[in-house]
Amino acid sequence: MRIVLLGAPGAGKGTQCKRIVARYGLLHLSSGDILRQERTAGTELGQKAQSYMDSGALVPDEVIVEMMAEAIKKAPQVAFVLDGFPRTVNQAAELDQSLVRDGQRIEAILNLSADDQIVAERLTGRRSCPQCGAVYHVKNLKPKVEGLCDNDGARLIQRPDDHPDVVANRLQTYHQQTEPVVDYYKKTNSVYDIDANKDADEVTVILFENLDALVSV
Ligand code: ADP
Ligand code: AMP
Repeated sequence: MRIVLLGAPGAGKGTQCKRIVARYGLLHLSSGDILRQERTAGTELGQKAQSYMDSGALVPDEVIVEMMAEAIKKAPQVAFVLDGFPRTVNQAAELDQSLVRDGQRIEAILNLSADDQIVAERLTGRRSCPQCGAVYHVKNLKPKVEGLCDNDGARLIQRPDDHPDVVANRLQTYHQQTEPVVDYYKKTNSVYDIDANKDADEVTVILFENLDALVSV
């Protein structure tokens, strides 16, 4: 199974991907996570991406497409879920072409739609573990001990791009550059529209219903 999770920043892609991975054994490929790892490692790619990420803009297509094509090629399994990629129509078209070259295709697109006000509140309340990458929310999905990761006890941080001034730019970028990707895929693929305003467990139930049907085909 090769699937893409689309949706605004804060729609819940990462949260749901972890649950999808636990149930279906897919590989989770998150472009944002890969970029943050590159930044932490201080690579040239990480340095190139930094200013775009911190301002809420998109990293240029050619950088991202190459990075993700490599991640897909390196993947030990052919079954994966893409999170945060593609984010422009150009990235989606490039991804299609490179998959076709390898005799593959995306089987389903799950589009998590949530209102701007809701995703803005989720982003500003998001807290992340700098060690294991686990994601929490100060109100919606709290850690057992406030401010500390359930997995490793590390102190949770707020991502610099989750500060309110950057969040507004990220949502604008999403509407201008990423929303058209949904229509791009609707022309050629199965796109499942999911109401992601609901609480995380309800969203998971709907996602699993759709994916179970796909797996049993
Ligand atoms: P994305 O990967 O799409 O940017 P995340 O999965 O990181 O989004 O979720 C953003 C924030 O919202 C996190 O703090 C997460 O704990 C919280 N969250 C995710 N899904 C929901 C939901 N359905 N309802 C409420 N909060 C959620
Ligand atoms: P995310 O963790 O998915 O919210 O991504 C964080 C930031 O990384 C985004 O705001 C962009 O600056 C950058 N980024 C992640 N994925 C992409 C992508 N597919 N195309 C361009 N920039 C990306």
